[in-house]
Amino acid sequence: AKNNGRDAYKFFEQEMHARALQRHATEVDLRHALERREFILHYQPVVHLRSGKIVGFEALVRWQHPERGLLLPEEFIPIAEESGLILPLGRWVQHQACSQAQKWIMAGLAPMTVALNTSGFEFRNKDFVTSVRTMLAETGLEPRLLELELTETVLINNTESTQAVLSALVEMGVKLTIDDFGTGYSSLRYLQQYPIYALKIDQSFVSQMVSSEASKSIVHAVISLGSNLKMRAIAEGVETAEQYASLLALHCDDAQGYFFSEPVTAEAFAALLQADMSH
Ligand code: C2E
Ligand code: CA
Ligand code: CA
Ligand code: CA
Repeated sequence: AKNNGRDAYKFFEQEMHARALQRHATEVDLRHALERREFILHYQPVVHLRSGKIVGFEALVRWQHPERGLLLPEEFIPIAEESGLILPLGRWVQHQACSQAQKWIMAGLAPMTVALNTSGFEFRNKDFVTSVRTMLAETGLEPRLLELELTETVLINNTESTQAVLSALVEMGVKLTIDDFGTGYSSLRYLQQYPIYALKIDQSFVSQMVSSEASKSIVHAVISLGSNLKMRAIAEGVETAEQYASLLALHCDDAQGYFFSEPVTAEAFAALLQADMSH
């Protein structure tokens, strides 16, 4: 038993060591990934529930790693945050997504909203407002079409600088959406402090709303709260027709999820938009 314990510990040590090495390798690779143009965006349509029309997209970043293949954000966003590389990466995502949307609009497609995930590290950066303003000027996208998604954690850890950043963004005409609503801290105080445009109902509630009365009640409550506070409700992770019908009955505004489309490449998204316009 003694030996077993020692072996287990040794294994644990090796495992930790391997993980630290992998992390370090990822960080080194991340530093070059931007210059080497290894990131790409996938676009997931946001659908207006009552009309079924695509009204926007959420941009989701992927890393085409030369050896490890297509990496999802969970494998590199935390490392990008710790190393500070999230700042240049975030600027790239913003520029890429907004210039793509503007190209589609100039090509005659209906104006669509651009929803971007924004890390707390970005909001805490004092140059954030300037960089968003510059990006909008460079791409030509109207500020009202940009929706920055933030988490409850950003609003809870609110410092004076976060407050100043959020106010300046809203003044510019940019919209603020709370992502994964209901999964963070349960304080609602910040809802009265900031002009929030929309609440994104987390997929953990949506996925169970047909089988669990409790989940359905939570979804209902979030939609009502949003409606009373003049905020849109956007359901995420909609996978079935039953969920769609149930959300429609609860007067949810918009939705996204595999039921409509997975996140897809720019080409595939343009095809979805075209098909959407023709009926
Ligand atoms: P999120 O913002 O909650 O994004 C939704 C995630 O759910 C995405 O995973 C999306 O692909 C997935 N999803 C969409 N529809 C469905 C569905 O019907 N069913 C299920 N099971 N999943 C669905 P993804 O792309 O792996 O992104 C994970 C997280 O990474 C995002 O969660 C977001 O927090 C973060 N992220 C993605 N792109 C960026 C970025 O550019 N910057 C930052 N800071 N974070 C990002
Ligand atoms: Ca999001
Ligand atoms: Ca989310
Ligand atoms: Ca999530």
